[in-house]
Amino acid sequence: NLPRLYVEPDLTAGGQLTLGKEQSMYLAAVLRKSVGDEVVLFNGRDGAWRCALTSDSKKSVGLELVEQIAEQTPVSDLWYGFAPLKSERLDYVIQKAVEMGVGTIQPVLTRRTQVSRLKHERLVANAIEAAEQCEVLSVPRVEPEITLERLLDGWPVERQLIVADEGAASASPVEAVSALRGKPVGLLIGPEGGFSEEERAKLLGLPYVAPISLGPRILRADTAAVAGLAVIQAIIGD
Ligand code: SAM
Repeated sequence: NLPRLYVEPDLTAGGQLTLGKEQSMYLAAVLRKSVGDEVVLFNGRDGAWRCALTSDSKKSVGLELVEQIAEQTPVSDLWYGFAPLKSERLDYVIQKAVEMGVGTIQPVLTRRTQVSRLKHERLVANAIEAAEQCEVLSVPRVEPEITLERLLDGWPVERQLIVADEGAASASPVEAVSALRGKPVGLLIGPEGGFSEEERAKLLGLPYVAPISLGPRILRADTAAVAGLAVIQAIIGD
Protein backbone atom coordinates (compact mmCIF):
# COMPACT_ATOMS: atom_id res chain seq x y z
CA ASN A 1 0.00 0.00 0.00
CA LEU A 2 2.77 2.45 -0.83
CA PRO A 3 1.70 5.83 -2.24
CA ARG A 4 1.92 5.87 -6.04
CA LEU A 5 3.10 8.90 -7.96
CA TYR A 6 3.34 9.66 -11.66
CA VAL A 7 6.60 11.37 -12.72
CA GLU A 8 8.00 12.48 -16.08
CA PRO A 9 11.71 11.42 -15.92
CA ASP A 10 13.03 8.02 -17.04
CA LEU A 11 13.11 5.42 -14.29
CA THR A 12 16.21 3.21 -14.33
CA ALA A 13 18.18 1.18 -11.80
CA GLY A 14 20.33 3.36 -9.53
CA GLY A 15 18.51 6.51 -10.63
CA GLN A 16 17.82 9.49 -8.40
CA LEU A 17 15.26 12.21 -8.82
CA THR A 18 13.80 15.24 -7.10
CA LEU A 19 10.06 15.82 -6.99
CA GLY A 20 8.44 19.17 -7.73
CA LYS A 21 6.80 21.34 -5.08
CA GLU A 22 3.30 19.90 -5.28
CA GLN A 23 4.31 16.23 -5.01
CA SER A 24 6.93 17.07 -2.35
CA MET A 25 4.31 18.87 -0.28
CA TYR A 26 1.97 15.91 -0.68
CA LEU A 27 4.56 13.37 0.48
CA ALA A 28 6.35 15.39 3.18
CA ALA A 29 3.47 17.44 4.60
CA VAL A 30 0.26 15.56 3.84
CA LEU A 31 1.49 11.95 4.13
CA ARG A 32 4.33 12.92 6.51
CA LYS A 33 6.86 10.74 4.74
CA SER A 34 10.46 11.08 5.86
CA VAL A 35 13.92 9.87 4.79
CA GLY A 36 13.93 6.08 4.27
CA ASP A 37 10.17 5.82 3.68
CA GLU A 38 9.14 4.26 0.40
CA VAL A 39 6.81 5.20 -2.46
CA VAL A 40 6.08 3.79 -5.90
CA LEU A 41 6.82 5.80 -9.04
CA PHE A 42 5.67 5.23 -12.62
CA ASN A 43 6.01 7.27 -15.79
CA GLY A 44 3.93 5.35 -18.31
CA ARG A 45 7.06 3.87 -19.97
CA ASP A 46 9.28 2.10 -17.44
CA GLY A 47 6.89 0.08 -15.28
CA ALA A 48 6.56 0.68 -11.51
CA TRP A 49 9.52 1.34 -9.23
CA ARG A 50 9.85 1.13 -5.48
CA CYS A 51 11.78 4.20 -4.32
CA ALA A 52 13.11 5.49 -1.01
CA LEU A 53 13.14 9.09 0.18
CA THR A 54 16.65 10.52 0.47
CA SER A 55 15.43 13.95 1.61
CA ASP A 56 12.08 15.06 2.97
CA SER A 57 11.93 18.81 2.39
CA LYS A 58 8.36 20.00 1.76
CA LYS A 59 9.69 21.92 -1.23
CA SER A 60 11.77 19.18 -2.84
CA VAL A 61 11.66 15.54 -1.85
CA GLY A 62 14.63 13.51 -3.13
CA LEU A 63 14.19 9.86 -4.09
CA GLU A 64 16.42 6.97 -5.06
CA LEU A 65 15.12 4.10 -7.16
CA VAL A 66 15.38 0.81 -5.28
CA GLU A 67 13.88 -1.80 -7.62
CA GLN A 68 11.42 -2.26 -10.42
CA ILE A 69 8.33 -3.98 -8.99
CA ALA A 70 6.23 -4.24 -12.17
CA GLU A 71 6.94 -4.30 -15.89
CA GLN A 72 5.33 -1.69 -18.09
CA THR A 73 1.92 -2.77 -19.37
CA PRO A 74 0.70 -1.77 -22.84
CA VAL A 75 -1.64 1.20 -23.20
CA SER A 76 -5.26 0.10 -23.51
CA ASP A 77 -6.66 0.21 -27.03
CA LEU A 78 -10.09 1.36 -25.86
CA TRP A 79 -11.08 4.80 -27.20
CA TYR A 80 -13.60 6.97 -25.37
CA GLY A 81 -15.22 10.07 -26.82
CA PHE A 82 -17.65 12.31 -24.99
CA ALA A 83 -19.26 15.69 -25.30
CA PRO A 84 -17.66 17.83 -22.56
CA LEU A 85 -19.74 18.45 -19.44
CA LYS A 86 -19.47 21.18 -16.84
CA SER A 87 -16.78 21.19 -14.13
CA GLU A 88 -17.42 18.44 -11.58
CA ARG A 89 -19.14 16.18 -14.08
CA LEU A 90 -16.21 16.64 -16.43
CA ASP A 91 -13.77 15.69 -13.65
CA TYR A 92 -15.98 12.70 -12.90
CA VAL A 93 -16.03 11.33 -16.45
CA ILE A 94 -12.26 11.65 -16.82
CA GLN A 95 -11.70 9.87 -13.53
CA LYS A 96 -14.18 7.09 -14.35
CA ALA A 97 -12.83 6.64 -17.88
CA VAL A 98 -9.35 6.01 -16.45
CA GLU A 99 -10.73 3.62 -13.84
CA MET A 100 -12.64 1.79 -16.57
CA GLY A 101 -9.41 1.25 -18.51
CA VAL A 102 -9.62 3.49 -21.58
CA GLY A 103 -6.42 4.29 -23.48
CA THR A 104 -7.55 7.48 -25.24
CA ILE A 105 -9.90 10.18 -23.98
CA GLN A 106 -11.33 12.41 -26.69
CA PRO A 107 -13.59 15.40 -25.94
CA VAL A 108 -15.98 15.81 -28.87
CA LEU A 109 -17.87 19.04 -29.59
CA THR A 110 -21.38 18.34 -30.85
CA ARG A 111 -24.15 20.75 -31.82
CA ARG A 112 -25.67 20.76 -28.35
CA THR A 113 -22.44 20.64 -26.38
CA GLN A 114 -22.61 23.40 -23.81
CA VAL A 115 -18.92 23.54 -22.92
CA SER A 116 -16.62 24.44 -25.78
CA ARG A 117 -13.38 25.52 -24.06
CA LEU A 118 -11.56 22.99 -21.97
CA LYS A 119 -8.56 23.37 -19.72
CA HIS A 120 -6.50 20.59 -21.23
CA GLU A 121 -3.97 20.57 -18.37
CA ARG A 122 -6.78 20.07 -15.87
CA LEU A 123 -8.05 17.06 -17.80
CA VAL A 124 -4.55 15.60 -17.97
CA ALA A 125 -4.00 16.23 -14.24
CA ASN A 126 -7.27 14.42 -13.48
CA ALA A 127 -6.26 11.49 -15.67
CA ILE A 128 -2.89 11.27 -13.89
CA GLU A 129 -4.51 11.40 -10.46
CA ALA A 130 -6.96 8.66 -11.46
CA ALA A 131 -4.13 6.50 -12.84
CA GLU A 132 -2.21 6.89 -9.57
CA GLN A 133 -5.29 5.88 -7.63
CA CYS A 134 -6.38 2.89 -9.70
CA GLU A 135 -2.84 1.55 -10.17
CA VAL A 136 -2.63 1.47 -13.93
CA LEU A 137 0.89 1.95 -15.23
CA SER A 138 0.00 4.05 -18.24
CA VAL A 139 -1.92 7.30 -18.19
CA PRO A 140 -4.52 7.47 -20.97
CA ARG A 141 -3.81 10.04 -23.66
CA VAL A 142 -6.13 13.06 -23.36
CA GLU A 143 -6.65 14.58 -26.80
CA PRO A 144 -7.56 18.21 -27.41
CA GLU A 145 -11.25 18.77 -28.18
CA ILE A 146 -12.44 18.21 -31.75
CA THR A 147 -15.77 18.72 -33.51
CA LEU A 148 -17.89 15.67 -34.25
CA GLU A 149 -17.61 16.46 -37.94
CA ARG A 150 -13.81 16.48 -37.92
CA LEU A 151 -13.73 13.38 -35.75
CA LEU A 152 -15.81 11.45 -38.27
CA ASP A 153 -13.82 12.83 -41.23
CA GLY A 154 -10.63 11.38 -39.76
CA TRP A 155 -12.07 8.23 -38.19
CA PRO A 156 -10.03 5.07 -38.91
CA VAL A 157 -12.73 2.88 -40.47
CA GLU A 158 -11.26 -0.35 -39.12
CA ARG A 159 -12.19 0.82 -35.59
CA GLN A 160 -15.81 0.21 -34.65
CA LEU A 161 -17.55 3.16 -33.01
CA ILE A 162 -20.09 2.15 -30.40
CA VAL A 163 -22.54 5.03 -30.02
CA ALA A 164 -24.66 5.16 -26.88
CA ASP A 165 -28.04 6.06 -28.31
CA GLU A 166 -31.11 6.26 -26.11
CA GLY A 167 -33.22 5.64 -29.21
CA ALA A 168 -31.34 2.49 -30.27
CA ALA A 169 -33.66 -0.40 -31.07
CA SER A 170 -31.58 -3.21 -29.50
CA ALA A 171 -33.07 -4.57 -26.31
CA SER A 172 -29.64 -5.23 -24.81
CA PRO A 173 -26.19 -3.89 -25.60
CA VAL A 174 -24.62 -7.29 -24.93
CA GLU A 175 -25.34 -8.70 -28.37
CA ALA A 176 -24.18 -5.58 -30.19
CA VAL A 177 -20.91 -5.42 -28.23
CA SER A 178 -20.28 -9.20 -28.42
CA ALA A 179 -20.41 -8.97 -32.22
CA LEU A 180 -17.37 -6.65 -32.06
CA ARG A 181 -15.09 -9.04 -30.15
CA GLY A 182 -11.53 -8.94 -31.49
CA LYS A 183 -11.93 -5.57 -33.20
CA PRO A 184 -10.62 -2.21 -32.01
CA VAL A 185 -13.53 -0.19 -30.60
CA GLY A 186 -14.46 3.22 -29.29
CA LEU A 187 -17.42 4.45 -27.26
CA LEU A 188 -19.09 7.77 -28.00
CA ILE A 189 -21.46 9.43 -25.52
CA GLY A 190 -23.60 12.40 -26.51
CA PRO A 191 -24.04 15.76 -24.77
CA GLU A 192 -26.49 16.68 -22.02
CA GLY A 193 -29.06 17.64 -24.64
CA GLY A 194 -28.41 14.50 -26.73
CA PHE A 195 -27.20 14.36 -30.35
CA SER A 196 -29.14 16.56 -32.80
CA GLU A 197 -31.34 14.76 -35.34
CA GLU A 198 -28.81 15.45 -38.12
CA GLU A 199 -25.89 14.18 -36.03
CA ARG A 200 -27.83 11.08 -35.08
CA ALA A 201 -28.83 10.36 -38.68
CA LYS A 202 -25.23 10.83 -39.83
CA LEU A 203 -23.81 8.59 -37.10
CA LEU A 204 -26.35 5.83 -37.62
CA GLY A 205 -25.68 5.81 -41.36
CA LEU A 206 -21.96 5.08 -40.97
CA PRO A 207 -20.83 1.50 -41.64
CA TYR A 208 -18.48 1.40 -38.63
CA VAL A 209 -21.06 2.68 -36.12
CA ALA A 210 -22.76 0.26 -33.74
CA PRO A 211 -25.55 1.96 -31.75
CA ILE A 212 -26.30 0.56 -28.31
CA SER A 213 -29.11 1.15 -25.88
CA LEU A 214 -28.25 1.29 -22.19
CA GLY A 215 -31.81 0.62 -21.11
CA PRO A 216 -35.18 2.34 -21.29
CA ARG A 217 -34.29 5.25 -19.00
CA ILE A 218 -32.50 8.44 -20.06
CA LEU A 219 -29.18 8.34 -18.24
CA ARG A 220 -27.14 11.39 -17.48
CA ALA A 221 -24.20 11.61 -19.84
CA ASP A 222 -21.72 10.77 -17.05
CA THR A 223 -23.76 7.74 -15.96
CA ALA A 224 -24.05 6.58 -19.59
CA ALA A 225 -20.24 6.75 -19.89
CA VAL A 226 -19.66 4.46 -16.91
CA ALA A 227 -22.46 2.08 -17.95
CA GLY A 228 -21.24 1.89 -21.56
CA LEU A 229 -17.60 1.35 -20.59
CA ALA A 230 -18.60 -1.31 -18.05
CA VAL A 231 -20.54 -3.23 -20.71
CA ILE A 232 -17.63 -3.02 -23.17
CA GLN A 233 -15.01 -4.06 -20.60
CA ALA A 234 -17.19 -6.91 -19.33
CA ILE A 235 -17.60 -8.32 -22.84
CA ILE A 236 -14.47 -7.52 -24.81
CA GLY A 237 -12.15 -5.73 -22.43
CA ASP A 238 -9.17 -6.72 -20.34
N1 SAM B 1 -29.90 15.58 -19.74
C1 SAM B 1 -29.17 14.49 -19.16
C2 SAM B 1 -27.77 14.97 -18.77
O1 SAM B 1 -27.69 16.08 -18.28
O2 SAM B 1 -26.78 14.26 -18.86
C3 SAM B 1 -29.22 13.28 -20.08
C4 SAM B 1 -28.50 13.43 -21.35
S1 SAM B 1 -28.42 12.02 -22.38
C5 SAM B 1 -29.37 12.61 -23.69
C6 SAM B 1 -26.73 12.13 -22.87
C7 SAM B 1 -26.17 10.99 -23.64
O3 SAM B 1 -26.11 9.83 -22.81
C8 SAM B 1 -26.90 10.57 -24.87
O4 SAM B 1 -26.58 11.36 -26.00
C9 SAM B 1 -26.45 9.13 -25.04
O5 SAM B 1 -25.18 9.07 -25.67
C10 SAM B 1 -26.30 8.67 -23.59
N2 SAM B 1 -27.49 7.99 -23.07
C11 SAM B 1 -28.33 8.40 -22.10
N3 SAM B 1 -29.28 7.48 -21.85
C12 SAM B 1 -29.04 6.44 -22.68
C13 SAM B 1 -29.67 5.18 -22.90
N4 SAM B 1 -30.71 4.80 -22.22
N5 SAM B 1 -29.12 4.37 -23.84
C14 SAM B 1 -28.04 4.75 -24.56
N6 SAM B 1 -27.41 5.93 -24.40
C15 SAM B 1 -27.89 6.77 -23.47
